[in-house]
Amino acid sequence: MLDRDYEIAVLKGDGIGPEVIDEALKVLRALVSPKFSFREYPCGAKCFLETGNPLPSETIAGCRKADAVLLGAMGLPDVRWPDGTEMRPQIDLRIQLDLFAGVRPIYLYNRAHTPLKNVSVGDIDFVILRENVEGLFASMNGGIQLRGEVAVDSMVITRTGTERVVRFAFELAKKRNRPESRVTCVDKANVFKSMAFFRSIYDEVAKDFPQVQTDYAYVDALSMYLLQRPQFYDVLVTENMYGDIISDLAAGLIGGLGMAPSADIGLDAAVFQPSHGTAPDIANKGLANPIAMILSTAMMLRWLASQYDDQEMITAAEKVDKAVKNVMSDPKVSTKDLDGQLSTVELGDVVVGAL
Ligand code: ATP
Repeated sequence: MLDRDYEIAVLKGDGIGPEVIDEALKVLRALVSPKFSFREYPCGAKCFLETGNPLPSETIAGCRKADAVLLGAMGLPDVRWPDGTEMRPQIDLRIQLDLFAGVRPIYLYNRAHTPLKNVSVGDIDFVILRENVEGLFASMNGGIQLRGEVAVDSMVITRTGTERVVRFAFELAKKRNRPESRVTCVDKANVFKSMAFFRSIYDEVAKDFPQVQTDYAYVDALSMYLLQRPQFYDVLVTENMYGDIISDLAAGLIGGLGMAPSADIGLDAAVFQPSHGTAPDIANKGLANPIAMILSTAMMLRWLASQYDDQEMITAAEKVDKAVKNVMSDPKVSTKDLDGQLSTVELGDVVVGAL
């Protein structure tokens, strides 16, 4: 067991970011053991307005130094670069820390949360592995716009970048150890050279995991299959932009973005944040669902457990997961996005009570 506290860098960000982070910190503080020290760093669109920089170097340094990073959400629609794009410091952070694996679990806690018929709790239980630092997002800040006539953003797929995320996906499927372990390669290999290359690397890596089934889906067809047979999926691995889109679609199957946690993981650093953005439409109204952020925090506990071989962290993660499961078993105990009446703070209090 570690003989010191874990230092957690806290990046609250913009919109509903600070509201959901506060609930996650409340949950962590309520876990009598283990112990954490939290250090807050400035970031996001508000930080840009105040300092001219949405991701100051002291924030990046603080994230590198910390044992893990908790992030709310960053960016505001009215705060943009001169080319019209929004500030996306969370994506810059992924690139700076080389957090290549975007891990996005999708789990249905209550039948009342899904728009699908004939699905029970636990039927929807899969993980999207989004390649996080290349793909179409490699063009971020680097695309071109010519003479007001043509604009180009390029899809960048590398062997190294694809190999490591696909390997991560197969390792994860092995760890999940479902009766039928499966990794689905989500691409558009029938049209794009870059995607055919992605698939060929998937095939190479798959040979090292004979106990895990291979499966393929074009991203457009997958959008339909996820609605028709979500039970089929275990782990899905895909390019950055496709991963961005299908994560939101998948979140819609389990009650929306307020229920979808996420972790951005690299070789020696990790950032834990909900799949949602800053949701400015509901910010500062007490309407944000904090569950995605709280579940992201449980992912952080599990990651710390594996990094530091710390059983106490696994116990803590299990406590949080169990508390959320208990709370979510009553559909009335929820925020407005799930047709409930509770405020962000009230739902956080209920989770703390369930711990
Ligand atoms: P980004 O591109 O930064 O990921 P986005 O455009 O996907 O952001 P979000 O900010 O994630 O947009 O939110 C989309 C909508 O989902 C919001 O307008 C809000 O209504 C809803 N939403 C997102 N997160 C939550 C939450 N935690 N609780 C309740 N509703 C949420």
